[in-house]
Amino acid sequence: MSERYDIAIVGSGPAGITAAINARIRNKNIIVFGYENLSNKLYLAPKIDNYVGFYGISGKELTKKFKEHLDEMNIDITYERVDNIYDMGDYYALMISDKTYEATSLILATGVQFGKPFKGESEFLGRGVGYCATCDAPLYKNKVVTIIGYNNESIEEANYVSELASKVYFIPMFKGEYGLNNNIEIINDKPVEIIGDSMVKKIILRNSELESDGVFILRDSISPDQLVPGLLVEDGHIKVNRDMETNLKGCYAAGDSTGKPYQYLKAMGEGQVAALNAVSYIDKKC
Ligand SMILES: Cc1cc2nc3c(=O)[nH]c(=O)nc-3n(C[C@H](O)[C@H](O)[C@H](O)COP(=O)(O)OP(=O)(O)OC[C@H]3O[C@@H](n4cnc5c(N)ncnc54)[C@H](O)[C@@H]3O)c2cc1C
Repeated sequence: MSERYDIAIVGSGPAGITAAINARIRNKNIIVFGYENLSNKLYLAPKIDNYVGFYGISGKELTKKFKEHLDEMNIDITYERVDNIYDMGDYYALMISDKTYEATSLILATGVQFGKPFKGESEFLGRGVGYCATCDAPLYKNKVVTIIGYNNESIEEANYVSELASKVYFIPMFKGEYGLNNNIEIINDKPVEIIGDSMVKKIILRNSELESDGVFILRDSISPDQLVPGLLVEDGHIKVNRDMETNLKGCYAAGDSTGKPYQYLKAMGEGQVAALNAVSYIDKKC
């Protein structure tokens, strides 16, 4: 059986790391999922004037300070994107490709994804549209797959899929070095709509279209109710009370994912409240 953590924190932005620091101070066994930069929204901020005590600091400098703080407290970030989380009654099961992690309590600090889903995305979810290419790759053996990639992780996923699929198109949604396998075709065009009948048939781009059996959309974050089935979401944000509790027992949320204003200190305050309440939840259970 896999180890069961007291608290799993999903997201390594300001909300997630503040939750992690506070849970660690309370001696809880935690796991934090996220990215090497912690949060692109933090890392790329040119100048921050409302972070109390650090007037005019850049996002990169603040990220460095946050990382030093985590290092001092021996908090490691697990650089993996959680694909699905299931409420198992007494604990949560967090799925990543072919791995499962278990935690008694959960803190969602996944931020918000700007931009609307593509036309047809929700309609064809599970019918050719997916958010984890490595999980579903075997379904597309000898088939045509399109990957809409928003980050470096999507490149690894595309390379993996290209070993099984007959054809892989990669639509990059970011600038950078792609390092894709030679048999992957890069399409520099903007996705507009996914169409099909009972299953996906093609993807319409601004200037072209691609026949495709599957479309994987690999963003940094997944909409919270798709990530955690049964989670109550209102107007695109996770519904929480003042204790940062969601509608699911032992599941808390913090930061941009719970609503506006989208700001560092709000996210961090919420991360702290969520962690302290998750700690009380664990202590009551033991
Ligand atoms: C350019 C820019 C400048 C800004 N300037 C300011 C400013 O000056 N002052 C201010 O107060 N605010 C500013 N903000 C807003 C601020 O960045 C956000 O409010 C803050 O980052 C929110 O923190 P968060 O932890 O809730 O989410 P985020 O910072 O978005 O972090 C969430 C993290 O979780 C990760 N994640 C999501 N889903 C998963 C998953 N399934 N598995 C693993 N990891 C996952 C994401 O990739 C991300 O790394 C700025 C934002 C931008 C974009």
